[in-house]
Amino acid sequence: MVYMVLLDTGEKAMARLEIVKYGDPILRKVTSRVIKFDKSLKKLIEDMFETMYASEGIGLAAPQIGVSKRVLILDVDYPSKRYENEKAGKEENIYNPMVLVNPVIIQSEGEMESFEGCLSFPDVFFKVKRYQKIIVRYQDILGKERKFESQGDLLCRCLQHEIDHLDGKLMVDKPVSEAEMIGSLKEAGLDQVTSPPASAVLG
Ligand SMILES: [Zn+2]
Repeated sequence: MVYMVLLDTGEKAMARLEIVKYGDPILRKVTSRVIKFDKSLKKLIEDMFETMYASEGIGLAAPQIGVSKRVLILDVDYPSKRYENEKAGKEENIYNPMVLVNPVIIQSEGEMESFEGCLSFPDVFFKVKRYQKIIVRYQDILGKERKFESQGDLLCRCLQHEIDHLDGKLMVDKPVSEAEMIGSLKEAGLDQVTSPPASAVLG
């Protein structure tokens, strides 16, 4: 199972951290693999969830809170379910958190295009190219090797978006239409930001 409940580290309370915005060089760094599956990893993951939920995001990669490690979290069900539940006056559990440590896409096929946003790009939305189907190899929060297959949906797209973050790649590297992307960046006041792709940074 890819789904994980949050682990209680029994330590400090979770902290909502500031999200790193487009233009910060850490978003272009290739992250380092996690070697130790210890309390500090759990704390990082808890803080990431706290930050993602508070920001109403559906995915977050560690570099987005300034930590250059190969860790991502997702909860693609959260905002829509919360909205439905609120409308219906329900207060049931609406969380469906996922944690992937050291994720790598080991197989991919097809292509799809859809609108994406990113917590590091406030108010920016444009169509991005993604694989239609992927198989991801990763480790869970305890370090156990796992595989996950995803196809054609929001989760599949979100996974690719977050794995890109771990490789220093951003959605501006994969627009369907350059003009649409520039238009959206302009509206958000981000069109003058310089942030070359990771390969250029690494030389
Ligand atoms: Zn993002």
